[in-house]
Amino acid sequence: MVSVGAPIWTLSLADLEEWTKSKGEPLYRAQQIWRWLWEKGVSSINQMSDLPARLRVSLASEFALTFPQLVHESVSKDKTRKFLWEMPEGGRVETVWIPHSNRYTVCISSQVGCSLNCRFCATGQLGLERQLKGYEILLQVYAVKHLLGLPVTHVVFMGMGEPLLNYTAVIEALTGLSQKLKLSPKRITISTVGIPKGILRLAERKEPFELAFSLHSAIPEKRQMLIPLAAHIPLEEIRHALGTYCEKRQEWVTLEYVLLEGVNDTPKDAEALRAFVAPPVRAKVNLIQYNPVPGLPFQGSKRLSEFQKSLMQRGLLATIRRSRGADIAAGCGQLARQV
Ligand code: SF4
Repeated sequence: MVSVGAPIWTLSLADLEEWTKSKGEPLYRAQQIWRWLWEKGVSSINQMSDLPARLRVSLASEFALTFPQLVHESVSKDKTRKFLWEMPEGGRVETVWIPHSNRYTVCISSQVGCSLNCRFCATGQLGLERQLKGYEILLQVYAVKHLLGLPVTHVVFMGMGEPLLNYTAVIEALTGLSQKLKLSPKRITISTVGIPKGILRLAERKEPFELAFSLHSAIPEKRQMLIPLAAHIPLEEIRHALGTYCEKRQEWVTLEYVLLEGVNDTPKDAEALRAFVAPPVRAKVNLIQYNPVPGLPFQGSKRLSEFQKSLMQRGLLATIRRSRGADIAAGCGQLARQV
């Protein structure tokens, strides 16, 4: 049975109930469809075997059950897996699955490409092709879980794109992750290079998700050199938005900091970082090992542990995120749709 029409993934349970009612069917049919979609993970409407044939025909004639199509998969020696998908509405994005003891994190993309052109990032070199729809963001996790059968415990919005420049779709995906895929928002992290308006909107939300801010340098001129967007948004404005976020939600944020050799790894950089983390901003620092990107002039710093120590001596909480999947270009800043 070939399905056409609007993507079925966008429907809430209430929408499905209304639809089954309009077909003169009992309400429990909506629950059945919901379970097939979100718990059992069917790949065709025909598999919904406890639905009457007439209802399956109606479903297929009104809604589309489309999936991201797997174009390529790479497996790292550390077991990280990277998937390149052709998305239901066109364009290719990457999703990374990272196993680490009993934690299984899926790193998802929120845009096809990215407009921000951060100087150290492979995705930034692609430019922006289009915004992903909310259901397309959500389907990346769905596909890893249900189509590939991999465990998923955590989700990070750290793949291709700037999530807060696709705010509505990201919130739709966030809601779907908790309500449809039953993932606790506490295990979901949204990462941004610093869009104050978006951070302030997130500050108003009630779900207990995590926020990460890609700082990379607390010295404005250096940050502008790494992130062109920073020339248009003063660091102080972002700091103010983060402070509001921490106060309103009574939470900490994570400052992501890719440590680059000879660029942002000096004592002066540590001092600037120390000054950035002051009330109302409450933050821990996550130092990230950089994976070199061919054609880009940066190298990962060898001073990771030393820099961490210097932050801790200044009273900051600092952890190191070791690179995963670097051999398959699945690490931080490496997503560029290579096959
Ligand atoms: S680091 Fe993030 S925001 Fe910057 S270019 Fe890469 S994907 Fe875009």
